[in-house]
Formats: sequence, structure tokens, C-alpha cells
Amino acid sequence: MSDDFIKILNLGAFTDKEKKLINSDFSYKKKMSRIMKEARKAAKRDTCYFCDKPVTSFCNSHSVPRFCLRNIAIDGEVLTLNTLVDNPFLDSEKGVENAGVFHLICNDCDSKIFSDYENPDNYNNKPTPTMINQIALKNSLKSISKRNLEIEQFNILEKNSPKAKIISQAKNVANKMDLNEYKNSYIKAKRALEKNSETDYYVCYYEKLNYVVPIAFQASVALVVDFEGNVINNIYNPNPEYKIQNIHISIFPLKQESVIIMFIENGDKRYRPFYKQFNKLEFEDKLAALTLIMFMYSEDMYFSKSIKDVICNNKTLQDVGKTGQDLIASTPFFNPIEILKKTHDLDKRYDIPNILSEKYKVL
Ligand SMILES: [Zn+2]
Repeated sequence: MSDDFIKILNLGAFTDKEKKLINSDFSYKKKMSRIMKEARKAAKRDTCYFCDKPVTSFCNSHSVPRFCLRNIAIDGEVLTLNTLVDNPFLDSEKGVENAGVFHLICNDCDSKIFSDYENPDNYNNKPTPTMINQIALKNSLKSISKRNLEIEQFNILEKNSPKAKIISQAKNVANKMDLNEYKNSYIKAKRALEKNSETDYYVCYYEKLNYVVPIAFQASVALVVDFEGNVINNIYNPNPEYKIQNIHISIFPLKQESVIIMFIENGDKRYRPFYKQFNKLEFEDKLAALTLIMFMYSEDMYFSKSIKDVICNNKTLQDVGKTGQDLIASTPFFNPIEILKKTHDLDKRYDIPNILSEKYKVL
């Protein structure tokens, strides 16, 4: 593997010159797709992650429910975060069938363990504890799948290039720590679902909007700071006992309405000041904060082509869209937490378009 290819991969954000090179010289994309193919093969299991039965063909599980994607798709397609980030190796448009899919469980399990929350008819009232347990389960499975794939990608890079070895090993130390946390979240969510628990998660915000927002989103994220700049998760804490706490956020465009759900694992006390501050915000301000958090912390969002220009023309949104990409690789030497506080400042919500507000509704 050539050194320039490794250099490009190491950079996270691409310069215009690199983008031009990658887009004009097809060999880069070819190499990348070979690595991805090999990684998928290495990460492939032979049993269902949920029921342990042998599986030859896995279900196309959607990280964001398909019924939500359909409500914002134009010509069967939605846009990905890459519309903003512009990584030449990734897609900016996705067909609804292939947007955010992962392959970890069998068809039988997929049709059962998410059935309540993936049924649009179940959103007439506040989501039930079963629906919350199912969302938590899905989020952990998706994260496990993503990390497994990344670990294999770096394993392949490490094998192929001595130059990539140091980066790959560092990445995978962090990836494996993340993976363990996701596995713990999975065990908890699975148990909650199986015993029909009503107490494992705490819904700290629920809202129904009477219009259809142009974004579909579902993920668990680890917020770094709250609205007052207090640290929620110190992602640089080297103590293995330190638990990263996640908050689950779902934004579901329905046929004529939208639903927003935010919940945490019961007992994750570090989020308390955050959601108290959040709940005190004005309605529109809450929507702006959620918009910012989505773009800043996750890539698991899909949006309608109707807001492409609004998103692409906002510099702050472009910058925050890249924030989550490479925290570990770019660990600063001095006061990393102070720098994080700046990069993850929630006041940036005043500088971005409030995409969840009625102004940008698709219906
Ligand atoms: Zn299964």
C-alpha cells in the first residue's frame, strides 16, 4: 500500500487537492473499496448476535427506521452527513433500502425485537417502555457493528503497511474500549427488553411536532459538555473504571407529524444538569440545540434533499459536522478538555439553521 494513500487516510479531513486527486485517480477508491470488502468479510459472523442461531444471510437492519426515511425521501433517496463533510470515499446520497444498514442479526429477530418502535401506528401516545428498550437495543447493536467493522479495517491497514501500524494500533485500542462499552449497553438493553422492564431507562424529553421535519435520526451519543460548559463525559479519562455515559436521541418524521425522544440509562446521573438545562430552554431553542447535537456528535442522520442548500451553505454546520470525526487521532497535548469545551460549545446552535423548526418542514 502506497505511503500517499496512508497519509490521506490518516488525515480525517481532506484538503481540496486531495479530494481532486481521489476523484480523478480511480485507484484510490478502488483500494478503499477493496479494504472495505475485506473488512466486511473479516467482521462477518456465522450466528445471529441476538439469538445465536446459525445464519447465512443476515437481515438488512436499518439504524434509522425505514418508515421514517420514506417520509423524507425524494425519488427514493435521502442525503447523508457526507453531503456536508465531503469525504470522497463515502456516499452523499443513499437509497432508502441501503441507508444506515447493518448486518448483525437474523431476519426473524429483526422482525420481532424492534417491532413496537418500528410501527408508525405506535406513535399516537408517548412511547412505551418496550419501545424505549427496543431503541436502546438497536442503538447498541448498530454501534457494535460499526466498531467491529472499523477494527477490521485498521487490522487490514496494519497488515498492509508498516507506516500505518502505529495509527492503526492506536485507533484499535480506542475502538476496542468503545466496543466493550457498547457490548455492556447491549447486554443491559437485551435484559431490559426480555424482562419487559419499565425502569432501565429514563425519558428526559419527549415532544410531538405537528409537521414533518426534514431529518431522520436515531443514535446514542456521548455528550462532552452541557449548556454551561460543565463536563459530562471526559473522553480523555484513561481510567478503565470511568464509564462513558450515552444519551439516546431519536427524531422520527412520521406521515404528518414528527416525534422527538431523548432518554438515558437510569442512574447515569452526569446527564442530570444537562437535561434540566435543556428542559428550561424555549421550544425553538430546544430544536436548535438538538439540531446542533445531531450534527456535532453523530453521523446517523439522514435528511431530505429539500434542505441540501440550507445545510451546505452554512459554514458553522460544516465545521461541526466534522467535529465528531477524529477526536482520538487529534488528541491535543495541552488542556484537551478546554479545547473540547470550545469545539463542543452548545452556543454554536445560534450560528446554524434551525432545521427542526417549522420553517424547514417537508410537510
Ligand atoms: Zn436471530
